[in-house]
Amino acid sequence: MVSQFDQDSANFENLAEEVTKWSGAFQSRLKQRSVAAPNSDGLSDMKLPLTGSGAREAFESFTVNIAPYLSGSAGPRYQGFVTGGATPASIMADWLVAVTDQNVMVPGDSIATEVEMQALSWLLELFELPDSFDGILTTGATASNVLGALCARQYAGERQSIDVARSGLSGVEIEVFSATPHASMQKAFGFIGLGRDVITKVPCLPNSEEMDVTALEKMLKKSNCDGKVIVANAGTVTGTDFDDLQAIAKLCKTYGAWLHVDAAFGLFSRLTPDRLHLTEGIELADSITADGHKWLNVPYDCGIFLTKHPYLLQQSCSVAAPYLDVGSALPAFMDRGIENSRRFRALPVWMTLMAYGKSGYEQLVENNCAQASALARWIDASEGYELSTPCKLNVVVFRPVGLNDEALKVVLNKINASGKVYLTPGAWQGKGAIRAAFSNWRTTMEDVEIICDVLESVMVKA
Ligand SMILES: *Cc1c(COP(=O)(O)O)cnc(C)c1O
Repeated sequence: MVSQFDQDSANFENLAEEVTKWSGAFQSRLKQRSVAAPNSDGLSDMKLPLTGSGAREAFESFTVNIAPYLSGSAGPRYQGFVTGGATPASIMADWLVAVTDQNVMVPGDSIATEVEMQALSWLLELFELPDSFDGILTTGATASNVLGALCARQYAGERQSIDVARSGLSGVEIEVFSATPHASMQKAFGFIGLGRDVITKVPCLPNSEEMDVTALEKMLKKSNCDGKVIVANAGTVTGTDFDDLQAIAKLCKTYGAWLHVDAAFGLFSRLTPDRLHLTEGIELADSITADGHKWLNVPYDCGIFLTKHPYLLQQSCSVAAPYLDVGSALPAFMDRGIENSRRFRALPVWMTLMAYGKSGYEQLVENNCAQASALARWIDASEGYELSTPCKLNVVVFRPVGLNDEALKVVLNKINASGKVYLTPGAWQGKGAIRAAFSNWRTTMEDVEIICDVLESVMVKA
């Protein structure tokens, strides 16, 4: 008997052609489709099939039961959170990842490990970071922050003659300082056993999310702890504020502190010459987090973790088992990250960099920043809205004039109900705000005009 697997496999090219056609149509309709997904009629009464009906029927069921209810988050007017698009080359690469199904765990049987190493070294070149950084591609910036926290923990232990990865945290003192840590950073410290509350908040400069370095210095001076860790930000999610990394790195050197920089999307500011000063000093960091699935515009899931101390990462993550020892000179990425078995996520990074190069990405970042500043100018000139803070990079933070936070929510819901744009809430200096983040290669100035039209149409007149 021919199995369903065999039948589908024999028909694979035809099936793939149908999927390709559908994908082309989906992509070309992204501009028109509703950005926020309509509520689904519910999948809940679909039962697990006892006998499968094959890939074609499964695909048809996807087109009927799932596809209509997907969001237009890949499209040009989804400005929620910080959401990247996916470049054509990276989408193609992601298909090839599934087709070739490599497990980038240990080297020895595939070029995949070398591809990941080259992708990482191209990223260093892209961001003009020294090659003293080593790293790994992760599932996202949250995972990268976990690795940063792990390295910092291992470093703090080493200073106190304790190998934390081996013998645990008992007896180790660690203090963490940060001004505006991303929520995922708190989650990371929770994961690694230090607790979410381990972070001591350093005051910010007035009306900013940037760390007050003088206050930090006072706190460091006062502390007797031998395991100090600073989590600095290069691009906070709301104000896109950058800590003074140069000054902080200097303090880290003086006080023997680990410097982790969360630069999930802020690292991309290095691609525009006008903003190079923002990340000055980042080359002095011990570890850096960046995201692939945000501004690099590769499909989910892809994050970037860089460190100058790969041995600490290795100590924290290494997996020892005889069957895993393939005796290669290349690193085993399973020893540098959370997972053992790992997706070939390096391929979309490699292919998108190959396809669009440094200048393609410089243009992408430049465009998104110009779009954000165009929206900010419109808001500034409008009667119904005001900027919460000036637009400095790719995020616009604003609120309706004279409305309380409750009424702001109503306005935001109306904006999103238009289906033309999707924005998400935020807070600035304790007051509610609306955020619009630009990080998709598809977005154009025409889209900014559409966003302004939507904002105009739901404006509450005084
Ligand atoms: C998005 C973001 C994260 C979390 O990234 P994920 O890729 O969603 O896990 C962490 N830090 C900053 C500054 C971010 O913008």
